[in-house]
Amino acid sequence: MIISLFDLFCIILFILAIRFMATPKTANIGNYSAIISMMIAIGISFFPLPEKFLWLLGAIFLGAIIGIIFGEKIKITELPQMIAILNGLGGGAATCIAIAETNILKHSSAISVLGGIIGAITLSGSLIAFCKLQGIIKKRKIFLSPLIINLCFLLAVSAAPLFFDSQTILVPVIFILALVWGIFMVFPIGGADMPIIISILNSFSGWATVAIGFSYSNVLMIVVGTIVGASGTILAYIMIKSMNKNLLKLFIQPDSLTTNNVMEKMPNEGNPEDAAFIMENAKNIIIVPGYGMAAASAQYAIKNMADILEKKYKISVRFAIHPVAGRMPGHMNVLLADAGVDYEKVFELENINSEFSETDVVYVIGANDITNPEAKTNPDSPLYGMPVLDVDKAKVVFFVKRSLNTGYSGVNNPLFFASNTIMLYGDAKKITEDINKILEQ
Ligand code: NDP
Repeated sequence: MIISLFDLFCIILFILAIRFMATPKTANIGNYSAIISMMIAIGISFFPLPEKFLWLLGAIFLGAIIGIIFGEKIKITELPQMIAILNGLGGGAATCIAIAETNILKHSSAISVLGGIIGAITLSGSLIAFCKLQGIIKKRKIFLSPLIINLCFLLAVSAAPLFFDSQTILVPVIFILALVWGIFMVFPIGGADMPIIISILNSFSGWATVAIGFSYSNVLMIVVGTIVGASGTILAYIMIKSMNKNLLKLFIQPDSLTTNNVMEKMPNEGNPEDAAFIMENAKNIIIVPGYGMAAASAQYAIKNMADILEKKYKISVRFAIHPVAGRMPGHMNVLLADAGVDYEKVFELENINSEFSETDVVYVIGANDITNPEAKTNPDSPLYGMPVLDVDKAKVVFFVKRSLNTGYSGVNNPLFFASNTIMLYGDAKKITEDINKILEQ
């Protein structure tokens, strides 16, 4: 009875945590609410006291130390990779429980095997996603079409019980197949499809927990797993919808790595002096942050720029956020909140896209794919169908980046060569700080 009350208390705290995290103002409270809830959940898992509880304590202690070290050390720019690893660990934990059930209890229920399969796919798929985000894996081509590969693994996992009698052999075989499936499932995915697969892996880690929760009749695991699974599914749905993608196509024929050729003329090139002069004389400015802002840790410089422009020059400054900007959902929102940008000045794509035509200056900092107009015009582009920020409609567009290189999708951006575009070559932080110095004088 008391344990059930604690379960209920944890569930309420977890739900409140999600609610509080919906806005930057209350996100910290949400974080603490989740931490307290998780600590209580771990605490009540000791009742009734398990046989080898000292081992359990040791494992929790070790896990906590590793978590604290990585949490402290991780740079805010490496958050997407950390999220990928955490998704994978969630799936891996579910698989470990399913393995333990087979090895110790010498039997396993269908639901726990299902949880183990989803968990194993999540673990290996997330590790591949981590390698892609870290730039360790750049290739996407494999020897067979993703449709055939996914069908083969689905058949192999489903047919395995026909070939093995003993569960202690069958279950590990199925989990190994699922691990390899995860690798092949995520390997061909890249470019504009990456945010979707990361959200799907996030939801998988939740559903794996739900399955294991059912097999152990653990209400807390079922409810918390459902929260993670459902929120990951909703996020994936939002990503798919906001990028005009097709979920089935992701596993059958992911976006190809086609390259376009738009490098026929030289773009306009400017310097910080030009940028400062044009900005000082603008009435309104929209800043568009992308992955390069995160890579250069330029969020503080950009906040400083917005402050100077507003306070000294009385210019209206707003921020436009694309749903897949950066390398994880909400990446730019986190960085701008970290730098202290007022969230009321931060606008989502659908709320600001119509405003670019009325805008004097757009300052695109380290963003590329999210502005590429070929997403609207070129059916062969891997970005085709994804809504983009219509920055080209503004009077002047500055692109701050180090070169004319492509972004994550690997395709060139014709906007660099537009007559109203001025390229500012260099590191996002350095260029922004140089402009700030001139604006301050
Ligand atoms: P992009 O990857 O399209 O472009 C980023 C640009 O930043 C690059 O072209 C690069 O150009 C520039 N850059 C890198 N480092 C620096 C630096 N230090 N200073 C200045 N510029 C720099 O990023 P976007 O944010 O526009 O788009 C996100 C892309 O990532 C989309 O394709 C999306 O699908 C994908 N993605 C998104 C995920 C998500 O969940 N949000 C997850 C995984 C992938 P240069 O080298 O010339 O400097």
